[in-house]
Amino acid sequence: MGIAGRRALVCASSKGLGRGCAEALAAEGVDLVLNARSADTLEVTAEEIRAVHGVKVTTVPADVTTDQGRAAILEQAGDLDIVVNNAGGPPPGSWRDWDRDAFIAAFDANAYAAIALMQATVPAMCDRGWGRVVNITSVSVKQPIGVLGLSNTARAALTGFVAGIARDVADQGVVINNLLPGLHATDRTVGLDTYESSLTGEGVADVSARRQTTIPARRYGSTSEFGATCAFMCSVQAGFMIGQNILLDGGAFNSTL
Ligand code: NAP
Repeated sequence: MGIAGRRALVCASSKGLGRGCAEALAAEGVDLVLNARSADTLEVTAEEIRAVHGVKVTTVPADVTTDQGRAAILEQAGDLDIVVNNAGGPPPGSWRDWDRDAFIAAFDANAYAAIALMQATVPAMCDRGWGRVVNITSVSVKQPIGVLGLSNTARAALTGFVAGIARDVADQGVVINNLLPGLHATDRTVGLDTYESSLTGEGVADVSARRQTTIPARRYGSTSEFGATCAFMCSVQAGFMIGQNILLDGGAFNSTL
């Protein structure tokens, strides 16, 4: 993909979709800065990636949703060619219950963290004439998810920001896009299956099986499929892909275009 030797920050990457992206970039020979809050899990992930792919992996245990956490990440990161923005998703619930603090927390995690990291890293990418940013958002920006109104709201804000900035830097070799997961087999999805189980009284395995049948592919996506798409969006070949929202959902969003 033409990115061997590049340096990437992958936020929220000890598990799940972030880890899938980190592994796929490492397979292309990209050196990594990995981040998550739990230092132990993060270091285990980093060691496994070093062992399999032989790339340099720096770990920064920090909360990417805070100013202090991002400062710690940026201090260790050095010059970055690639940034994959990611954070944990907001809790499910009812729109009747969310107060200002809940919306601000969702905005901090699922919009502002990515915006702040783009503000901190994209200018230097422009100066060097090459860069790639992938923001992990959600199918919720195309199709609202009832219990995830906090996600619907916060990620719409990030999507709007990216639409503008991506076109502003496209002539400087910097490619910024969003990658929208539908349902993937991660801890997050187990958590949401468990939440639905608490509402319906079904077993968690039954909820999972039922939700998978609603997807034309009849299964949840894998983190390796997700990571491979992310790596392509960071590749040399993706140089003309500007400000796009790439949906990876097994066909679940029912539309012609
Ligand atoms: P996951 O399997 O639960 O993994 C989350 C990862 O992020 C872990 O490594 C976790 O480590 C880290 N993390 C969480 N909060 C963090 C924070 N504040 N700062 C730094 N690291 C943090 O989740 P996932 O399924 O990969 O989901 C990733 C994102 O995609 C979420 O925003 C989710 O809402 C969104 N999404 C997922 C799906 C899906 O089907 N999986 C669908 C649509 C959208 P620590 O806990 O140690 O920090």
